Amino acid sequence: MTEMRTLKVALLGCGNVGAQVARILIEDADALAARTGARLQLSGIAVRNVNAPRDVDLPQELFTADADTLVKDADLVIELMGGIEPARTLILSALRNGACVVTGNKALLAQDGPTLYEEADKAGVQLSYEAAVAGAIPILRPIRDSLSGDRITRVLGIVNGTTNFILDQMDSTGAQFADALAEAQRLGYAEADPTADVEGHDAAAKAAILASLSFHTRFSLDDVYCEGITSVSASDIAAAKDAGFVIKLLAIAEKLAGADGNEGVSVRVHPTLLPREHPLAAVRGAFNAVFIEAENAGELMFYGQGAGGTPTASAVLGDLVSAARRLVLGGPGRTETTTGHVPALPIDAATTSYYIGLDVADQPGVLARIAQLFAEHGVSIEIMRQTIHRDAGSNVESAELRIVTHRASEAALAATVEAVKGLDVINSVTSVLRVEGV
Ligand code: NAP
Repeated sequence: MTEMRTLKVALLGCGNVGAQVARILIEDADALAARTGARLQLSGIAVRNVNAPRDVDLPQELFTADADTLVKDADLVIELMGGIEPARTLILSALRNGACVVTGNKALLAQDGPTLYEEADKAGVQLSYEAAVAGAIPILRPIRDSLSGDRITRVLGIVNGTTNFILDQMDSTGAQFADALAEAQRLGYAEADPTADVEGHDAAAKAAILASLSFHTRFSLDDVYCEGITSVSASDIAAAKDAGFVIKLLAIAEKLAGADGNEGVSVRVHPTLLPREHPLAAVRGAFNAVFIEAENAGELMFYGQGAGGTPTASAVLGDLVSAARRLVLGGPGRTETTTGHVPALPIDAATTSYYIGLDVADQPGVLARIAQLFAEHGVSIEIMRQTIHRDAGSNVESAELRIVTHRASEAALAATVEAVKGLDVINSVTSVLRVEGV
């Protein structure tokens, strides 16, 4: 019997995810060898503090503060340090040395992905990053491999567990944003500084990755329009609920016709109303899900845990086995195409339905004036509902108007809202939110 080959695996980082990856590599060594056709030998773990206590009991001799030397001697490098530097330099060094790299670093990929992908292509090795989007959920490989014979038309993703937890809390308890955020922080779903999550930056990084793979074109963070959830109020949630919708922070990538009639891709992150019967509306708490529409496959949904050390380690190990198999079998490392060359569209070119809340004077003819204004701007109304409010102790009446439009462009909608604000019967525009799935 021929001796099984041994592949040296360097692990950079031993935090939430890295510690679980190290544990699985050691505990499941025999099973991983059987699946790979080579033994995956953990050759070292680079950290900042070699003496810090770890979540998992690991052999002390594996730890080193010298990541550069560890990387030079590895067949496979797993980067789980996070941040831009030194992760970027170490990954580039590993790729130049001919090692395959697995990373979960969405911030680095969104900022400087093209440099890394080009280096991997040049070296003919694999750079894999399944863990960078939606944690444990196998979503990038299905898009890149399983759907490579199809044409994806649209991707809608709940790809940030923190914001989904906050919006779900607001929806189920009526809480205000600040209280729901405090609860998320208390339970460990949100960091002390929640900016990257609540402002949508984390979801935007993932949207760029999803769009790149779905439309075979490299999109970066600069191509993503991004709005977070900090301005979503309890009354927005209540009004949406009343009208049969739930509000989710969605990462959206879809093919649309641009202003010149040519196709482009709109990549955006913003709070979005979804009908409560839409499959994504059922994604509760800190869970993630990605909903894909493809020409031949139709609708697909991928659901699961978007974060956490052990779930994310599952995605990392999947990439590692896949890269190791390729090293065993030989052949090129390149597995994704960038031949799409579709431009990213500005947010003005995006089309969607909208929910508009208006506080209006309760006078005859108001509804007709508003409907006419919408029509003049080419925005057609699908649903218009009115609720009358009477102030106690006075005869003053006002009406709350809730409008859901058919699909319209951002530019047409913005012009309509500006024009509506100018009507003397309008007290205020209480909310303008985008709607998907109607
Ligand atoms: P973490 O808990 O903060 O761990 C980071 C590890 O990297 C620590 O062990 C740290 O060493 C080490 N490290 C950081 N800077 C270093 C440096 N300059 N030199 C050497 N070692 C350094 O991070 P994590 O939560 O495991 O996340 C790791 C990566 O996975 C990130 O890119 C993250 O975005 C991604 N990811 C995480 C999750 C999740 O659920 N946590 C989900 C998906 C993707 P010390 O321990 O000595 O400080």
